[in-house]
Amino acid sequence: METISHFIDGAVVASTSGRVADVFNPAVGEPCAQVALGTSEEVNAAVAAALAAFPAWSNTPPLARARVLFKYLQLCQEHTDAFAAMLTREHGKTFSDAQGEVARGIEVVEFAVGIPHLLKGEFTDQIARGIDAWSMRQPLGVVAGITPFNFPVMVPMWMFPVALACGNTFILKPSERDPSASLLHAKLLKQAGLPDGVFNVIQGDKITVDALLDNPDVQAISFVGSTPIAEYIYARGSAAGKRVQALGGAKNHMVVMPDADMEMAVDALMGAAFGSAGERCMAISVVVAIGDAGDKLATALKSRTAALKVDDGMAAGAEMGPVVSSAAKQRIERLIGEGVEAGAELLVDGRNFKVAGRENGFFVGGTLFDQVLPSMSIYKEEIFGPVLCMVRLPDVGSALELINANEYGNGVAIYTRDGGVAREFVRLVQVGMVGVNVPLPVPMAFNSFGGWKKSLFGDHHAYGPEGIRFYTRHKAVMQRWPNTASAGAEFAFPQMK
Ligand code: NAD
Repeated sequence: METISHFIDGAVVASTSGRVADVFNPAVGEPCAQVALGTSEEVNAAVAAALAAFPAWSNTPPLARARVLFKYLQLCQEHTDAFAAMLTREHGKTFSDAQGEVARGIEVVEFAVGIPHLLKGEFTDQIARGIDAWSMRQPLGVVAGITPFNFPVMVPMWMFPVALACGNTFILKPSERDPSASLLHAKLLKQAGLPDGVFNVIQGDKITVDALLDNPDVQAISFVGSTPIAEYIYARGSAAGKRVQALGGAKNHMVVMPDADMEMAVDALMGAAFGSAGERCMAISVVVAIGDAGDKLATALKSRTAALKVDDGMAAGAEMGPVVSSAAKQRIERLIGEGVEAGAELLVDGRNFKVAGRENGFFVGGTLFDQVLPSMSIYKEEIFGPVLCMVRLPDVGSALELINANEYGNGVAIYTRDGGVAREFVRLVQVGMVGVNVPLPVPMAFNSFGGWKKSLFGDHHAYGPEGIRFYTRHKAVMQRWPNTASAGAEFAFPQMK
């Protein structure tokens, strides 16, 4: 069986540690490869390669860096289906969803190729007599990205195109569940002309991550994953003096007002709750039905959820594939059981779901609960599976109270025809990304992505202008030339005259 290994200093490097994990095809329920789990020596070798590559890469003019990314962009477009097939095999999402993931990642490269413009500083002529001032942004050095299983192509692309464009060198530590795409990124970047050592991949688990967090030559860490690990990465990385952005988990609500276009709202809920088997950090997992919207939604969602086409992600017509692992299936089914025990009304039960010919696959059918209360574990916990919970409330004010009291603040949506209600909701809701009649308001590459509260630790959101700020340091310069007469030694703070 193939062992997926590291990419250090421009070459695939076989691991000698013997630490490996199985990589599963979740639709089949069997391992399809193994992945090396990096040791601290291997991490340190990758960091040393990135450190050695930094002086030349950071001194490469931004336009020349952009040209490498232009070539890589073209190669990504040509390899979309190759990436997508890897995603479906190791993650389980449907092939068309996987193609969409690659397209959203490519958008960040399309943003990053504008780097000569994006890195321009500000200049002030004659800030004092004979003195000019300007600002510039400079790269940090070696930076690392630690990424989750659910977007193995796109989430790394939230990070490294921007980091590299800014002149940093990069170490990617992808999820051990679906590691193949990381090596295709490395191969295509090399083919595009990226110098050796500028982009490195180190496969692994907690031991590997800890070695990155402890290495003093790593200047910054971008993390995306679950909240407990995000909090850990933020605490340990910042304590070591690194710049850290750590994006965590989510519990995203969609409020449906009684005046909403119900057909539009139901379509939106089906895609947002069950697309990618609910394994998206922006997935809608709670629908908050206001007033008589509840009965209409319950009827329509029940029949649509029961009719979902769940299959191997490569099968024609599949709307939803399996969840990522046997452990994920067990966790989701346990939570469904807890919802039933707590008294929620189970309208569609996706437990014990079987796909013919794929009996060992990690499938969970679409699941729908009504009459969910905020005290229940199915409301409180991030289920990260195809389970939609309906909470019924009387008005938008109580919906805002519920959402603002939730510990997560990644995404939220409101469906209504009333502009005034939508405007107030947008202003008052304590969530980082808000949709008005848009279920998954994922910002495009030229804006920035990030949640509030326990969905993000750190000051910077990902990619877009925030990404440029994260991967650079600001420098302020003042300059005078000795053709102005010296005013003599000044011992007091100078004052403008
Ligand atoms: P995870 O936290 O288990 O793993 C994320 C990364 O951390 C992986 O690379 C993993 O190897 C590493 N890791 C795991 N345990 C670790 C430990 N104890 N110490 C150090 N490193 C460790 O997350 P996951 O299951 O891969 O991904 C799903 C989670 O990611 C969900 O909670 C989802 O909401 C979240 N997510 C958030 C966003 C966002 O933008 N906020 C985007 C995608 C996914």
